[in-house]
Amino acid sequence: MARKLIVGNWKMNGSLAMNAELLNGIRTGLAGIDCDLAICVPFPYLAQSHEALEGTGIALGAQDVSAHAVGAYTGQVSTRMLLDFDCKYVIVGHSERREYCNESDELVANKVQRALAGGLTPIVCVGESLREKEDGKTAEVVGRQIGAVLSVLEEREVCDIVVAYEPVWAIGTGKTPTPTMVEDVHALLREWMVGKNPDAGECVRILYGGSMKPSNAGDFLQRPDIDGGLIGGASLKAEDFLAIARQA
Ligand code: PEP
Repeated sequence: MARKLIVGNWKMNGSLAMNAELLNGIRTGLAGIDCDLAICVPFPYLAQSHEALEGTGIALGAQDVSAHAVGAYTGQVSTRMLLDFDCKYVIVGHSERREYCNESDELVANKVQRALAGGLTPIVCVGESLREKEDGKTAEVVGRQIGAVLSVLEEREVCDIVVAYEPVWAIGTGKTPTPTMVEDVHALLREWMVGKNPDAGECVRILYGGSMKPSNAGDFLQRPDIDGGLIGGASLKAEDFLAIARQA
């Protein structure tokens, strides 16, 4: 069983003062945690977070990356820039970027490729909307999203990604699927990835994300097929983030 990975996604939250308190709370509360930890912060706070996390073993990540290497792409941020702050991870294809920034499956796949080429580990987000779930299209949607990514990867690269299954209807809503529903989707994701690389069953971590909090984290994280969590709202409070990590 892979070591579990708990990733905080701060989204567009924070300030220098708020972050200082949050990072200090995390740094000083790590006792009893036996999983990999990462925090994906807004771009302007990479320097602050990099400094605060030094020596803690907590990895730093960003929430997006350009599909381009360098050049005339105003407002975009490259893998090279993220590496200047020792980023290890980058979230790619979060449903909020797919929805509000019109990111297509193809663009998400290109960003994953670029992240890998630049030496970052992409956390590839997939998940169906409420409408798609009600129409019985979860497997179709998630299959299309992961398929677009797999189609641009070399066989060996499959082991270098992390996947986060995040049903859109569970993000920030307080609603969650049952752990069994999550396991069913994870099993499908693993099957598709194994189709591309026979080692993917063991080498790829598949996280669950969507309204995970201290009171429900154990239900998900105790399942062998759920390799960790992508945590939004609950990652903004040190004690909640740490309480989730302690159950991994
Ligand atoms: C997310 O943004 O990836 C997420 C899972 O958010 P929340 O935990 O707030 O539902």
